[in-house]
Amino acid sequence: MAEEHATTGGMTRQPVDLLEHPEQHATVSRHDLHEFESRLLSDLFAIVEEHTADGRTDIDRERVEAAFIFACEHHADQRRKSGEDFIVHPVGVAKICAGMRLDTATLCAALLHDTVEDTSASLDEVREQFGDEVATLVDGVTKLTGITFQSRDEAQAENYRKMMVAMASDLRVILIKLADRLHNMRTIGAMAKQKQIDKARETLEIYAPIAHRLGIHAIKWELEDLAFATLHPRKYQDIKGLVNQQRIEREDYVEKAGQYLNRELEAVGIRAEISGRAKHFYSIYSKMTRKGREFNEIYDLTAMRVQVDSVKDCYGAVGVIHSLWKPLPGRFKDFIAMPKFNMYQSLHTTVIGPEGLPLEIQIRTREMHDMAEFGVAAHWIYKEGPGARGKPAPPEGESKLKWLRSMLDWQQELQDPKEFMENLKVDLFDEEVFVFTPKGEVKSHAAGATPLDFAYEIHTELGHRCVGAKVNGKIVPLHYQLKSGDIVEVLTSKRERGPSRDWLAVVKTTRARNKIKQWFKQESRQDTEHSGRTLLQEHLTKAGLPPQ
Ligand code: MN
Repeated sequence: MAEEHATTGGMTRQPVDLLEHPEQHATVSRHDLHEFESRLLSDLFAIVEEHTADGRTDIDRERVEAAFIFACEHHADQRRKSGEDFIVHPVGVAKICAGMRLDTATLCAALLHDTVEDTSASLDEVREQFGDEVATLVDGVTKLTGITFQSRDEAQAENYRKMMVAMASDLRVILIKLADRLHNMRTIGAMAKQKQIDKARETLEIYAPIAHRLGIHAIKWELEDLAFATLHPRKYQDIKGLVNQQRIEREDYVEKAGQYLNRELEAVGIRAEISGRAKHFYSIYSKMTRKGREFNEIYDLTAMRVQVDSVKDCYGAVGVIHSLWKPLPGRFKDFIAMPKFNMYQSLHTTVIGPEGLPLEIQIRTREMHDMAEFGVAAHWIYKEGPGARGKPAPPEGESKLKWLRSMLDWQQELQDPKEFMENLKVDLFDEEVFVFTPKGEVKSHAAGATPLDFAYEIHTELGHRCVGAKVNGKIVPLHYQLKSGDIVEVLTSKRERGPSRDWLAVVKTTRARNKIKQWFKQESRQDTEHSGRTLLQEHLTKAGLPPQ
């Protein structure tokens, strides 16, 4: 079912033979665009245009237009709760997808995403007119739309697993789904109050974390702020008010500091684009509640973003910044050398800026910026998109695979949906530590991870044979909590030993826990099989039958 049920309104449409390019739309039923519809379509194409200009996408507009017309016709008599024509919604979703620079098939599927569920259109029709790729995407989204999450109930968790599978088969399905949710959240005001609360909670518990995991921060932040505004309207207004109080001063401060920095960077030959960065209300709120801080104790409200041309310039820029303003100890983070699990890369530092005020600065290249905003979507475009500029993808290509792999692992191994949900929470919300193998490879883990997690991350066998570990050259207990920068060496036994049940209490990551459980499951299966066979043989012998 669609997230918002379409209601049937009284809009009538007169078919007129006024196609602009009749020969190109031979398979599309005839339809003229109302003025309102033409405007919607050109809004969408305006976004496409923006990204075509920078050479990163190459959209087949005729196909997109055909999908638009198909959607207009099939949603013709439907209205949204707000009273608007339903077509506003699929176009809204397609616009968000276009903003992520997704491809033609995704834009078509976004436009068509509610047609099979909510209108007389069939999946076969969609396939016939738009091909297999689009039909498969529409089908994927339709299936996901049938799933609703109320809470962390088992049934919901089971649904979540289905979602993971859909994602693993084609990430574009979840990207459309996220865009769908975002558009629905933007227009949530028209819904009944209880429904608003349910949707907002689900958004905060399920969709925002997925966006985070996929590295799509542009969507994550907006989803969070919209859900926050719905769930805690008063707190939202409070924080918004506080942020706005000194907004002008803050923006002014960042701008002046930025101009100064720009001149200094230019002097050493680094070209930079410097901008202020707005903090998101929900992130301020969660910082206040999580760390028990008052609003005025959150000192990184003033933030600056520095975009440069190359990785080398990132490090060059941070050198200049630290020579101009004193860095706050412990606040410099190198997520370029050590990307986060969701492919995020940047240098972070906080300095005591001009006027003695703390200033948070992020330094990144343009590619890194796209990754930070669009995550997997950006990665996918850089790597496979038709507009890819032939640059090698950043090294985190692996992260995407790693992510998909863990999704599939979970799906296959976790029998208990409730446990799945708990694991997901752990994996999504924990901070990360970065440790090294003896060869200097970086591995990232959830905070609190132990040498056992590290061993299982590298290889299942390595985990099973682990007897101890050395951290920075010293033997440590297996429950040792890894810290960023540790060099970890796993000590193994020569012969196959298998894990110990106690390890389940020690490990922190889903992967390690699953591998250990799997080992025991297999072992007990072998036991059961063995005793079953013996029992059968005994009975057969008793009955005087040959025990083969
Ligand atoms: Mn929808």
